[in-house]
Amino acid sequence: MALDTLDYSVLAALALAVLAYLTKGVFWGVGDDGTKVVSDSRDISEVVRDHNKNYVVFYGSQTGTAEDYAHKFAKELKAKYKLNIMVADLADYDFDTLNDLECVVSFFIATYGEGDFPDQSVPFEDHISNLSKGDLSNLKYTLFGLGNSTYEFYNGAAVKADNALKAASATIIGEFGKGDDGAGTLDEDYLAWKEATMDILKSSLNLTESDAKFEASLKITTLDPGEYEDGEVFLGEPDKSYLDKSTNLSLGPFDHAHPYLAPIAHSKELFNSKDRSCIHAEFDLSNTNLRYSTGDHLAVWPSNANEKVEKFLKIVNLWEDKEQVIEVKALDSTVNIPFPSPTTVETVFRHFKEISGPVSRQIVANLKQFAPNEKAQQQCDKLSKDKDLFAKEIHENKYDLSEVLSILSDGATWKLPLEFLIETISPLQPRYYSISSSSLSEKTTIHITAVVEADKFQDRLITGVTTNLLRNIEIDQNKESAKPHLTYDLKGPRNKFSPYKLPVHVRRSTFRLPTSPTAPVIMIGPGTGVAPFRGFVRDRVALAQQGKTFAKMVLLYGCRRSDEDFLYRDEWVEYAKTLGENFEMHSAFSREGAEKVYVQHKLYELKDEIMELIDAGAFIYVCGDAARMARDVNDTLCRIMSEKKGFSTEKAHEILKNFRTLNKYQEDVW
Ligand code: FAD
Repeated sequence: MALDTLDYSVLAALALAVLAYLTKGVFWGVGDDGTKVVSDSRDISEVVRDHNKNYVVFYGSQTGTAEDYAHKFAKELKAKYKLNIMVADLADYDFDTLNDLECVVSFFIATYGEGDFPDQSVPFEDHISNLSKGDLSNLKYTLFGLGNSTYEFYNGAAVKADNALKAASATIIGEFGKGDDGAGTLDEDYLAWKEATMDILKSSLNLTESDAKFEASLKITTLDPGEYEDGEVFLGEPDKSYLDKSTNLSLGPFDHAHPYLAPIAHSKELFNSKDRSCIHAEFDLSNTNLRYSTGDHLAVWPSNANEKVEKFLKIVNLWEDKEQVIEVKALDSTVNIPFPSPTTVETVFRHFKEISGPVSRQIVANLKQFAPNEKAQQQCDKLSKDKDLFAKEIHENKYDLSEVLSILSDGATWKLPLEFLIETISPLQPRYYSISSSSLSEKTTIHITAVVEADKFQDRLITGVTTNLLRNIEIDQNKESAKPHLTYDLKGPRNKFSPYKLPVHVRRSTFRLPTSPTAPVIMIGPGTGVAPFRGFVRDRVALAQQGKTFAKMVLLYGCRRSDEDFLYRDEWVEYAKTLGENFEMHSAFSREGAEKVYVQHKLYELKDEIMELIDAGAFIYVCGDAARMARDVNDTLCRIMSEKKGFSTEKAHEILKNFRTLNKYQEDVW
């Protein structure tokens, strides 16, 4: 059998992936664009010793938030107690010598999926789970978990880590901290834990506290023309390969560190509404070896809107210098450089920093030392020390960083060291979308379905970064007369994002249809929660067209009104024609009748059929809002089981929990 070009590229990508795996990070980290500096050893105690470190902050991060908190913690600990701290990704080290460390370590561990460790930290999980009593008897650690209490296994990974470390006789210093993104208190949970933990560290390690002045870990040098070649300056290219003309950018592997610049071949507005918007976007994979499976997630890397970049650069007095080329170097080889360098000032804040979004109280505390006037200094002091005042004045008003800076200084501009801005402001992270296409019917296209975040609040519009970028693209691509809420540099660096390309990568998920065709399927997905189910149904349509048959599929969908925000309204009718009576769709409209009807109400209405399907071995899938819907659906399923089978509520909950373990009850919620 002859191999075609695609087969060769897949083989090449596989070979690269195997090489990368076998070398375990030793090669891939040493990019000379300096984005990631990795030590040549994976022996943690050797690296700590060689670099004279006396404290290690580890992170296990899925989306970058745990990494960000680990850096914030290390920065403050270093400034306060003059410790020589190393921040390390759990993925970059082996842990055989963990017990040989002569210093305290802090762990920041995110939970992903059903109480799982972040993908890259699974080897760490495996290592600590196989230890015996006494194996870590010298290890002293602090632990902060990042989780979401609306999920079944709240902070599950950090809980597992704590149990395994304790079982191996490690000693925790202070309390195991748990941050709750679901309750929206992650930042305040962290601050409360951090204050208590730093006090305990101070007394138990006998540390002397000094004025927590910012100390840079990076050195930024401005470059004059002549000190750089134009072609080597990063203007928003995701990594070095995008500057190198000889690199074939369509070859993977593509991941968090190396996204694919995917053309959006087609986009359209799905809502029929004056003030709400939902974008369907189709990413073309026909020129790449990037592939996906139905149920996976697409990570979309955004940039910041023109309006936000301008407002920010003006308040920090960098607008005039926005084209200045800068070089970023780490002051010590264990420090990662957060983006490719050399680059320009504007590029940093357009492509790599999260300048919109809520502001942390910690940033305001750190700003005090650079306040442009006494009033601003007092404001920083007052707001950063009073949690309730901060919540009332800043958080509840949904101000972003530019607005906070302006409020603190009464509009006066700030002169903040670039190192401070870069090390304090969180990195701009990709946003994830449940893929709404089927890898069986759309092998080389990924569809996503994204509701645009733009809420009127007082006299301002509170906007999301990525969804407004998608809307700007959709309006531009279809030459619509509608005005976008925000405008973006759609052409991207050196026009490379033109026409309509965005950096993306696929995150594998476990959200999959049952392999057995005889297992019935119950899908509950209101709003954009229907996205993966469109993929599931299209999968089944593709197979039905090949003559395959399946057990029943029931889809429960919900939206406000049938004529306003009913996603893919016309498509479902077509799917039903192919799938026949084995596809049933039930819709709940919350704003059409006198009473609000949601998916959980429909689910209860269908209780006889739902119970029959469960008895026949149905797989249950829930997608969408994690905060309320997923819990209400879970409770309704328990109620149905209790009523139909005479179980107690506890017993029904137990059965559903068991379904989860067996993968018969899966959630894709956010
Ligand atoms: P962001 O910039 O991330 O903003 C988030 C929210 O904060 C917005 O509501 C914004 O208005 C608000 N905000 C902005 N500034 C402030 C401020 N200063 N103070 C307070 N609030 C502020 N979404 C979908 O639409 N479809 C999907 O299929 C989908 N699938 C997902 C799958 C997974 C696994 C996950 C984790 C999430 C999924 N999401 C999905 C959500 C998606 O990832 C994004 O979170 C969402 O689109 C918003 O992204 P954004 O960049 O537009 O908003």
